[in-house]
Amino acid sequence: MTPIPILLYHSVAPAASPDYARWCVHPDRFAGHLDVVRSLGYTPLTISELVDASVGGDLPERPLAITFDDGRADFTEHALPVLGASGVASTLYVVTDRIGGTSTWLPMSCETSAAMMTWDDVRAAAAAGVEIGSHSSTHVELDIVPRDRLHDEVDRSRQRLAGELGQAPRSLSYPHGYHSRAVVRAARAAGFDSACAVKDAWSSSADDRFALARLFVWNSTTVDDLRSLLAATPIRTASSRPVLRAGWRGARWVRHRVRTRLQGAG
Ligand SMILES: [Zn+2]
Repeated sequence: MTPIPILLYHSVAPAASPDYARWCVHPDRFAGHLDVVRSLGYTPLTISELVDASVGGDLPERPLAITFDDGRADFTEHALPVLGASGVASTLYVVTDRIGGTSTWLPMSCETSAAMMTWDDVRAAAAAGVEIGSHSSTHVELDIVPRDRLHDEVDRSRQRLAGELGQAPRSLSYPHGYHSRAVVRAARAAGFDSACAVKDAWSSSADDRFALARLFVWNSTTVDDLRSLLAATPIRTASSRPVLRAGWRGARWVRHRVRTRLQGAG
């Protein structure tokens, strides 16, 4: 079994609002992270390259993947130039109904007006070699919505990306990492062949390719922190055994119903 770190970024920018700051990595620090990846001899792959190599049994020496969730406009301004300059492969998961809009899904008025990438930005990223995946249509928690909504979120976002980019996306990233057996079935049925969860753990060649584990990279993750993380033998890799969190899922379901009713009433 080959341990594989899959890094999860959200925002690369010089500054962010106080509520969102912990998700935001400074561009200079991001460039330092990529230097660490290179200096430790890792081979960055897109998620689909990683899955193909894992299935085919031909993983490179030290495989690694860099992923971005959400598709914020700062990806184009601050992350893409650094990635392009270093020739590092990456995968970007976008929320298709929010492209050209704002991050209206972020809770508690935390950055609800952050600019998202435009379709031209997404096409430019794809042309630069970034793998584009789906992060659903609206960033809803996929494991607590009704079945028809689940399929709409997964199928429609895939079709939208296929229409806009001329190529169907292969990979999905579950919003907040939340998934269930029904969500995995929907992802498979839609035609995806991999999906990223979160888990904050190392992935591996034995990981479930529809629940790939990723490691959070925070604002506070210094270059030395990342070097220590990637240089060490992983303490734990993700289990392919499904984790049942029925109580937490139930609480989120109630919250979703209340929000939906309030929106309907408003
Ligand atoms: Zn997200």
